[in-house]
Amino acid sequence: MHKKDKIIQIAGAGPAGLAAAITLSKAGYKVQVNEAKKEVGQRFGGDLQGLENWTSKQDVLQWMAQQGLTTGFEYAACSTGYAFDAYDKAYPLKSREPLFYLLERGPGKNTLDHALLEQALSLGVTVTFNRRLTKMDDQGILAIGPKAADAIAVGYHFSTDIDNGFWAICDDNLAPKGYAYLLVLNGRGTIKTCMFTGFNKEQSYVDKTVNAFERLLGLKIIDRQPHGGVGNFLLPKTGLQGNRLIVGEQAGFQDTLFGFGMRYALSSGVLAAKSIINGANYEELWRRELQPLLKTSVSNRWLYNLLGNRGYRLVLKLLANKSDLRKTLRRHYQLTLFKRLLYPWAQHRYKSKRKDISCHHDNCNCVWCRGGKFV
Ligand SMILES: Cc1cc2nc3c(=O)[nH]c(=O)nc-3n(C[C@H](O)[C@H](O)[C@H](O)COP(=O)(O)OP(=O)(O)OC[C@H]3O[C@@H](n4cnc5c(N)ncnc54)[C@H](O)[C@@H]3O)c2cc1C
Repeated sequence: MHKKDKIIQIAGAGPAGLAAAITLSKAGYKVQVNEAKKEVGQRFGGDLQGLENWTSKQDVLQWMAQQGLTTGFEYAACSTGYAFDAYDKAYPLKSREPLFYLLERGPGKNTLDHALLEQALSLGVTVTFNRRLTKMDDQGILAIGPKAADAIAVGYHFSTDIDNGFWAICDDNLAPKGYAYLLVLNGRGTIKTCMFTGFNKEQSYVDKTVNAFERLLGLKIIDRQPHGGVGNFLLPKTGLQGNRLIVGEQAGFQDTLFGFGMRYALSSGVLAAKSIINGANYEELWRRELQPLLKTSVSNRWLYNLLGNRGYRLVLKLLANKSDLRKTLRRHYQLTLFKRLLYPWAQHRYKSKRKDISCHHDNCNCVWCRGGKFV
C-alpha cells in the first residue's frame, strides 16, 4: 500500500492536532482526527489568549501563512499595553511590531480553533467528535493537551465596554510567582490570575485580582462567567511514544516562563506532519526547532522565581524604558551561554517545585486538583 493510502490517526483537535492534520492533508494524506469532546476548544470556551510574536524575527501570522495554516480568525495586534507593579505603579510596554496577537479560543465561530477546524474539514480531513482515544495501534499523532498541571490560570470571562488591549500586574499577592492579566477583544474580556504556586487559595487570588483591576482601571465586569485551566511545561525526554509522535502540550511544549503554548502547539503539529511527509526524524526536528527556546524559557522561569515583588518592580522599570519590547524579549529568549549553563540547574530546581507544596490535595477542589482529570 502506498504510504498516502494509509489513514493517519490523530488524537485531539486542538491547535497541535489540527495543524498536523492540515499539513498532512495538504500533502495528499488521508487524515482522521478524533476529538474527545463534542466540539473544538471546549476547555477554553471563549477564553482570550495571546499568540506570542517575540520568539522569532518573522511575524507569527506570516509564519502561519507560510506553513499553509489559516489566519482567518478574529484577532487584534497588540503592540502597547501596561503592566503594574505591586505598588500600583503603571509601566508602559511598547513595541514597534505586535508583541502578540490577541485571539479567542473555543468553539465560537471567530475563534482560532474554529478556523483551523473549518480549514481541516475543507481539505477533506475527517473529524470525529465525542471519541476519546484510549489507544492507538499504528503510527499516529498524540495531540491531547496537558498531562500534568504545572501552573493554573483562573478567573472570569465577561462583557465590557473598554477598548481592546492588555494589562498585567506582577504581584505575588495576586498571582504567586506568575502574573495577573486582563485582556479585552471587541467587547469581551478575560481576567485571570496565572499562578505557579498557592493553588489551594485560588479564589482568594482571583478576588484580589478582580479588585486590583477594578481599582486601577475602573474596570466594570458585566455578566461574568468563571473559567480556569491548567498548563503543562515539562520538557520531554523524547517526543515519541512508541511510533507515535507527541505534539503540543501533551509533550510539555510550552513557554515555561509565561505559559504561552499555542505557538509551540502549532509548530510541533506542523513538524510532526512534515516528519511523516518527508520521512524525517521528528525527534531531531523538534529538538532543533523548539528545544533551544524551551530550555531558555526554563532558565528564564528560574530567574523569575527569584524576583519577588521588588524584583518585578525593577524589571518593569527596565522594560518600560525599552522602545521595542519585542526585540528585547527576543534577546531574552536566546539560548546564550549563561542560559545554557543555567538550564540543568533550573530544570532540576523547577522540577522539584512541580508538586505544589501549598496544596495537600485532601478534599481540595482547586483547578490544579480538578486539572488532574483535565476537564
Ligand atoms: C487559562 C489558559 C490561558 C492560556 N493562555 C494562553 C495564551 O495567552 N497564549 C498561549 O500561547 N497559550 C495560552 N495557554 C496555553 C494554550 O492554550 C495551550 O498550550 C494550547 O491550547 C495547547 O494546544 P494543544 O493542541 O496541545 O492542546 P489543547 O488545546 O488542549 O487540545 C487538545 C485536545 O485534545 C482533546 N483530547 C484530550 N484527550 C483526548 C483523547 N484521549 N482522545 C481524543 N481527544 C482528546 C481535548 O478535548 C482537546 O480538544 C493558556 C492555557 C490556559 C489553560
